[in-house]
This record gives sequence, structure tokens and C-alpha cells, in this order.
Amino acid sequence: MKAEIDSAISQVIMEGAFIGGKHLKIFEDNLSQYVNANHCVGVGNGTDALEIIIEALSLPHGSEIIVPANSFIASAEAVSRTGHKVVFCDIDPGNYTISVSDVENRITSNTGAIIAVHLYGHPCDMDPLISLANQHNLCVIEDCAQAVGAEYKGQRVGAIGVAGAFSFYPGKNLGAYGDGGAITTNDANLAKKAKMIANHGRIGKYDHQFEGRNSRLDGLQAAILNVKLQHLDEWTTHRISVAQKYLAHLSSFSEITLPIKSEWAKQVYHLFVVRHNHRDRLQQILDDANIQTGIHYPTALPKLSAFAYLGQGREDGFAWKNDSKLLSLPIGEHISEKDIENLITIYQKSFK
Ligand SMILES: *Cc1c(COP(=O)(O)O)cnc(C)c1O
Repeated sequence: MKAEIDSAISQVIMEGAFIGGKHLKIFEDNLSQYVNANHCVGVGNGTDALEIIIEALSLPHGSEIIVPANSFIASAEAVSRTGHKVVFCDIDPGNYTISVSDVENRITSNTGAIIAVHLYGHPCDMDPLISLANQHNLCVIEDCAQAVGAEYKGQRVGAIGVAGAFSFYPGKNLGAYGDGGAITTNDANLAKKAKMIANHGRIGKYDHQFEGRNSRLDGLQAAILNVKLQHLDEWTTHRISVAQKYLAHLSSFSEITLPIKSEWAKQVYHLFVVRHNHRDRLQQILDDANIQTGIHYPTALPKLSAFAYLGQGREDGFAWKNDSKLLSLPIGEHISEKDIENLITIYQKSFK
């Protein structure tokens, strides 16, 4: 891709289209089309995307927002940063996304929204979640940071709830050459408000309607993302084939629990997360063989010092009890068949 990317970068530089401009507009149009949303607003990163969506919803100050206990901290930070209260809930043990029945347990008269994190690239079960939300007049915000291209019953994530937050952090499935993010929505008012918040509350050059902030997807990142978006589906197909190899070869072992893809899901495998009874030993064995793994996430969010003030650290839900078993095996467009076969051989030698 070097030639394509280099040419995109030099075009931006020659045009001086660093902020706003043509490449951003093209990317916003391309992403809207990709997720089948009416509107897309490029922003500085995925965390900003979440914060700006929440702010644009204008919920009463101090509203409770339900967030899954297993996610990256940004899913919860965006709630407190916008003046609301995080309420953690449990996840599904099969696909690791938000547990709809536990969301129901957590709803109070102060609840304003639910953050549906399509974790590891697996979409949340949106129909029951949205119907529950509708019964209680709540917004469902989609955290799509790990799930660009994932589908729920044939529909790409990002415009199923009120709005979707995307991250283009370099390690994500669609990664920029630095930070980047976007908001997608079908709601024209929400899109307009979000765009204004991200641009100092203005509509004209110096016509500031309220105090906003600065959060931008810059021209260089947009131009690079335009090139990479054209390759995304091909990379996703590869990720899925890597996952299928793991599933086929590791399912007969007793100490490992593999992720379960729901039948209505297109899972884009941002991560391939297993649970293992001897997680640290497995990680060490792979590390000794020069195979890098990760842990997503080592500590369930409610147990972090940052959230001690919420007093939810000692609950005993699935997410709370299983963080010490999680291990992310290598996955990505760069992983070869041989890499996987090698890992599987090592695994077979070490475990029954
Ligand atoms: C990466 C990520 C974010 C934050 O995105 P940034 O671009 O790093 O700010 C939010 N939520 C989830 C689930 C993520 O994985």
C-alpha cells in the first residue's frame, strides 16, 4: 500500500488541506456510506466521539449511563467527563458484549442512556437492547471503536442506536497514522449538534452559539483512511479466517474457552479473546516462543482504582470474576497461516 498511501499524503501536503477540506469530506461521506448512516462527523479520536455524542444528547446533568464492566476505560470515562454517572453492568459469557438482562436490573428513574460496546468486534444484541431502552425512554449509544464493519442481522454497526463512535487509533481494524475518530448517526439534529460541539460551538467562522471544544480528524489522517477503507473488507475476511482456524483447532482442549459468535452476528475479530484456566502459564509459553499476546482487559473496569468511588468493585458478575482468565491470541491482517499453525502446535505440546 505504500505507493497509494504516499500519494494520498503528498496530495494533502500539496493542497495544504490539513484541517477540514476535501479529504475529510470524502472520508465522512465514505464512512457514512459504509455504515449506512445519513451523517458522519470526523473528530479527534474515539474517546472524543463518545464524549461529544453524550454531550449532544443533552441528558439531565448527573444522569446514570449504563456501561459494560469489561471494556476499555474510554467507554466509561466519556460518561463521567460529561457530568454523568457510570453504572457498570455485566457481559455475556459467550460473546463478551453487554448483558441485556443485567442492563434491565440496573435501570432506575435516573438512567439516561446505555453504551453498547461492540467489544472485540462482536456486535451487541441490539434488538432486545433497543426495545428495553424504548420502554424506559433511554438512548442507546454504540461504541464501535473495535467493530468497524461488524454486522447485526445484516446491518453494519454505527447507525443502529442513536449514534456510533468510531476510533482510528493505529491498532484498530481501520487504523490511521495517529489518532482519529468519527461519529455516525441518522439523526440530523444530533449530527449538527455534534459537529458544533467539536468545532467550538460555532456555525459560521466567528458565530459561536455556545461553548464547544476542538476535536478534529485532520486531512492527512482522512486521506490515509480513505485509502485504507478500500482494503478493510479484505482484511476483515482474513481476520475471520484466522479466527476460524483457532476455533477449529483449539476447541477440543478442555482448559481453554473459545469465544462464541452469535448466529446473527458478523464478528470482525478486532481481538480473539479466550479464557484459560492457566492464563499466565499459557502467556509465558507463547512469549518464550516469541509469540506476543495481550490481555483485554486485565482488570474489569469497576475494580480499577479510578472507579473505586462508584463502590462497584466487589460485585460478583461474570466480568468481575473472569478478568484473570482472559488472553488475546494474535490476530490481524498480518497474521499468516503458518503463524497460526505454529501457535497451535505449541499449544498442543503444552496442554491437554
Ligand atoms: C480504542 C477504544 C476507544 C477509544 O478510542 P481512542 O481513539 O483511543 O480514543 C473507546 N472504546 C473502545 C471499546 C476502544 O477499544
